[in-house]
Amino acid sequence: MPNDKELCHNLLQLDGRGYKAYKEIKGTYQFPDFILIIDHVQGDPFAAPSKIIVKVPQELAGFPPSLYQSLSREIALRDYITRQLAQVAQKLSNHRGTGKSGLISIVGVKQEILPRTAVFIDNRQLEARFWVGLPAKGRTILGRQAVQLLCEDIPEIVARALKYKAFEEQKLQKQVEITEDADWLRQQLEKKGLVAFVANGSILPRRSGVDHRPLEESAITFESPKSLEVEFNCPNCGIIRGMGIPQGITVIVGGGYHGKSTLLRSIELGVYNHIHGDGREFVVTHPRAVKIRAEDGRSITGVNISPFINQLPQGSSTRDFSTTNASGSTSQAANIMEALEAGAKVLLIDEDTAATNFMIRDRRMQQLIAKDKEPITPFIDKVHQLYLDYGVSTILVMGGSGDYFEVADQVIAMDNFQPLDVTNQAKIIAKQHLNDRLKEGGEKFGEITPRIPLPESIDPSRGKWAVKVKVRGVDEVNFGTEDIDLGDVEQIVEQGQLKAIAAAIVYAKNKHLDHDLTLPEILDQVMADITDQGLDVLTEFPQGDLALFRRFELAAALNRLRSLKVN
Ligand code: ADP
Ligand code: MG
Repeated sequence: MPNDKELCHNLLQLDGRGYKAYKEIKGTYQFPDFILIIDHVQGDPFAAPSKIIVKVPQELAGFPPSLYQSLSREIALRDYITRQLAQVAQKLSNHRGTGKSGLISIVGVKQEILPRTAVFIDNRQLEARFWVGLPAKGRTILGRQAVQLLCEDIPEIVARALKYKAFEEQKLQKQVEITEDADWLRQQLEKKGLVAFVANGSILPRRSGVDHRPLEESAITFESPKSLEVEFNCPNCGIIRGMGIPQGITVIVGGGYHGKSTLLRSIELGVYNHIHGDGREFVVTHPRAVKIRAEDGRSITGVNISPFINQLPQGSSTRDFSTTNASGSTSQAANIMEALEAGAKVLLIDEDTAATNFMIRDRRMQQLIAKDKEPITPFIDKVHQLYLDYGVSTILVMGGSGDYFEVADQVIAMDNFQPLDVTNQAKIIAKQHLNDRLKEGGEKFGEITPRIPLPESIDPSRGKWAVKVKVRGVDEVNFGTEDIDLGDVEQIVEQGQLKAIAAAIVYAKNKHLDHDLTLPEILDQVMADITDQGLDVLTEFPQGDLALFRRFELAAALNRLRSLKVN
């Protein structure tokens, strides 16, 4: 194996040559305390940067096994190292020529702790994957700058981000402990009959719609109403108290601007763990909780939406419903039925993003527009059946209609950002002011019908490329000749998840799709493969920028593929 000196020498030799000559340095190099693999070399200074893998033996990296002995701890540690790596890389990254010359980049992260393919650790070694822009002026190689980048900056990155002694021990210890506790708490929910838990002292509001760090000075911390308070004795942090949201139907009410949506958003993201200092470290939600919203304009393929929608004006079947341009209510019905098909156990709905005519239909409207003229059975008539027939709970923000008091098991009022348990008052009011609604939609919720996706309808090819997929932001996947719009799939939090989802669709098509497997069976198999073999199973070559997603978000992407056909 050539060493760092030889790499230096080669880079200086390349100085002044055309950019393509960089291809010669592809390979593996032994540095004094790590191995550098130049895995992929970019074609020009503007192209996607070159991929680097660094492997540091554990004798030199020195991370104590206690920091990665459980899966929770390992994921937290890898996440923590990834963040430090990103910081150090950002400090050392600088423009050293044309285009991306001299830049060092690593997968983007936000507030959530996710398993990613950027950093791996085991008893043997630490592995980190990132990108560098090999320096050039125009298309002429800058050899000296390349030496600086590869032979000076990378060793510095290793020293400052991939060795235990570079870390603040206590902070790192704290992060692995709270992550382990958050996972433990999430596992306790079902045993205690809960679907979500919000610890006292949590900080839920964010700095802004685009800055997901906690709001600082003016934030009011969360305190549970006594009647809903539950207590856990966590393995690391000891006693934690907070609001437990029981299974069943929970309605969150309150005046406008009193913090309802902020609470629901925190619950949505409680399916993930959060970094220390986020404020939502101990806001944990059932792992099968899915945010539901209206999403007009989306395509729908062969979904049985008949529990909610029947007898459409043009007579199209709603047991096998397809459209290229859904309405608000139809899209919301499809979002629910697809989530149930994929195995959701909790639905999360906010009035701000729901279709009114899907949520309620009051007595007066029932009288004016007879049932045989209204295809929609509103959610209010189905929410209880959903719980009875399928054990699926709902948490709903609904400040604008008291009709839901009747069907609610709990009513929580947000008052100046503080939750109050107003269940009893709401039930009394419901009795005093009868709303005289007629129940619609029959006695049973109705059938959830799994579909079989047809492999030939999922085509990632474009022109001469067999697979052409690209991800834009956290909202869009260019998949073959099509763009999948995931802007309204709100539990996708990182671009890496979207990249992994795109890879998973291609993987599922090649590996698991045949004409027999239903969508939930495909999701089972893909998720099981990832659990067994890691995210690397999804791609032919190791990638550094994938982050773990849930089955629901993978299903969401498949469901929004306009070319999709199902049986
Ligand atoms: P609602 O849904 O009840 O209308 P929101 O949840 O949208 O209210 O919150 C309104 C505003 O108040 C937002 O700007 C939000 O960031 C802020 N906010 C929410 N919760 C808190 C809190 N606990 N402390 C301080 N500000 C908060
Ligand atoms: Mg709101």
